Amino acid sequence: MPVEIAHFHVAGGHGTAFAARKGDRIRILDLEGQQALDFVAVAAGDVSEGLSTIETRRALGSLYIKTGDTLYSSRRRPMLRVESDTIGVHDYSIPACDSSRYEVDFGAPGHRNCLDNMFEPMRALGLTSPLQVPEPFNFFQNSPVVEDGRTGVVDPPSRPGDYIVLECLMDVVCGVSSCPQDIIPGNGLVPSSLQIDVIAGGA
Ligand SMILES: [Zn+2]
Repeated sequence: MPVEIAHFHVAGGHGTAFAARKGDRIRILDLEGQQALDFVAVAAGDVSEGLSTIETRRALGSLYIKTGDTLYSSRRRPMLRVESDTIGVHDYSIPACDSSRYEVDFGAPGHRNCLDNMFEPMRALGLTSPLQVPEPFNFFQNSPVVEDGRTGVVDPPSRPGDYIVLECLMDVVCGVSSCPQDIIPGNGLVPSSLQIDVIAGGA
């Protein structure tokens, strides 16, 4: 019987960090729908090895991820695997929003942002600089690529209760952010809450 070993409620526009071990499952739920969440991971005990968007794109040969795909580290080691996914719309091309995104692009200095939402709680788990936060996987984020190659971000199609489950293929430290973008579309203009469950192997 699966054993839940950690449970987090992440308020809209906020973040958290947690550790998970090889064989554990990480279940991420969009509680209210239309909420993009940034997700990063580093190897436990070695923050220089991070979950890598570019290595995963190289390995998968695709701009999109799907159930069964392996997500790779910056050292090309299998780090996570997508075990199940109820929505199938995710992004791993767009960087995390940070303080400069809001200050430079929107004239909104001091706005909450995904990079700080992930880095601040990850400090307690070993990170010492925002530069150690990898580029994110943006689950539920809707970044369609159109025929001429242009891309952008629009509101997610996720509904309340949609989820993705990741199997840990190594011990990891993770950061998660409910994206606080409320100026342009991306989260239905209202950041909303997430649920994270870490489940011991076998779920
Ligand atoms: Zn964001």
